[in-house]
Amino acid sequence: MTRLTSLPDGTAVPILGQGTWEIGDHPETRDAEMRALSRGLDLGLTLVDTAEIYGNGLSEKLVGEVIAGRRDEVFLVSKVKPDNASEMKMMLACEKSLERLGTDRLDLYLLHWEGRYPLEETIAAFEELVDEGMILRWGVSNIDLKTMRKMMRMEGGDQCAANQVLYHPGTRGIEFDLLPWSRARDMPVMAYSPLGRGKLLNEPILQQIADRHDATPAQIALAMVLRQEGIIAIPKASTVEHVELNAAALEIRLDDEDVAALDRAFPPPTSEQPLDVI
Ligand code: NAP
Repeated sequence: MTRLTSLPDGTAVPILGQGTWEIGDHPETRDAEMRALSRGLDLGLTLVDTAEIYGNGLSEKLVGEVIAGRRDEVFLVSKVKPDNASEMKMMLACEKSLERLGTDRLDLYLLHWEGRYPLEETIAAFEELVDEGMILRWGVSNIDLKTMRKMMRMEGGDQCAANQVLYHPGTRGIEFDLLPWSRARDMPVMAYSPLGRGKLLNEPILQQIADRHDATPAQIALAMVLRQEGIIAIPKASTVEHVELNAAALEIRLDDEDVAALDRAFPPPTSEQPLDVI
C-alpha cells in the first residue's frame, strides 16, 4: 500500500521513502544494497534520498544504477553541500550529481545544512537550476523554525518545497512548532534517521508494542513517525528483509493505548526546543 502526501505545488509523494547514507560505500555490500533499494521501489518506496557528500558521490552512483531504466517511477532527492551552495558553484555540483545519478533532473534538491553562503544567494542559485530544468524544485535540511520564517520573507524563499530534519520517537521537538508550521503551509517535513540510526530499536517499549501488533521495534518506530500528518520518513535499509519490513510498517495503525504508552516513554515536547541535528 502506498500512502501519499503532497508538496506545496500539489505533487503527490510517498510518505515512506528510502535513505541512502552509507549505501554504496563498500564494494562487498553493493549488490545487496542495490537489491534492497530496488525491492523498495517495487514496494512503492519510490522516494529516494541521497546527497553529494554520501560516500563522496558513491551513494549517488549506486542510486543511479538502481534507477536506470525506471527513472520515471522515482521521486529523486539529492542534497548540495553548503560549500557548493553559491551562485558560482551550485550549477557544477548539480551537474555532477546528475551525472552520477544518470539522469537529467532531480525532483527535489536540498541545501544539506546552512553554511557560509547567505540563504538569499542559495535560493537564487536554486531558482536558476529550476529555470534550467535541472531540478524541479528545491528545499532545505537542518533548518530551524526561526530561519524558516526568515527565509519565507526572502525573495523566492516561499518556493521552498520541504525541510529535512532529524525526527524519530526519541527526538520529538519539532512536534511543538516546526511541524505544525510546516503543515499549515502544506510543506512536508522529511524525517531523517527515523529509526534513530538503529540505536533506538532496543527500547523495551518498542518491543512491547511490537509484540501486540506482531511487528518489530523498527516498524513501531516508523508507525509512530508516520502517524504525524505531513511527515515523509526516509529510513535507510541495506537488506531486502529490512526494506520489506519497513514497507509493511505502512499497514500498522497504533491505537490510543499504544500512543499513550509511547508518549510516556518518549514524552512529546511541551515547549520550544532547539532543532536537534545529527
Ligand atoms: P535510520 O534510517 O534511522 O537507521 C538506519 C539503521 O536502521 C541501519 O542500521 C539499518 O540497518 C537499520 N534498519 C533499517 N530498517 C530496519 C528494520 N526494519 N529493522 C531493523 N533495523 C533496520 O538512519 P539514517 O541512515 O541516519 O537515516 C535515514 C536517511 O536519512 C539517511 O540514509 C539519509 O538518506 C538521511 N539523512 C539525512 C541527514 C541530513 O542531514 N539531511 C542526516 C542523516 C540522515 P541495515 O542498513 O542493516 O538495513
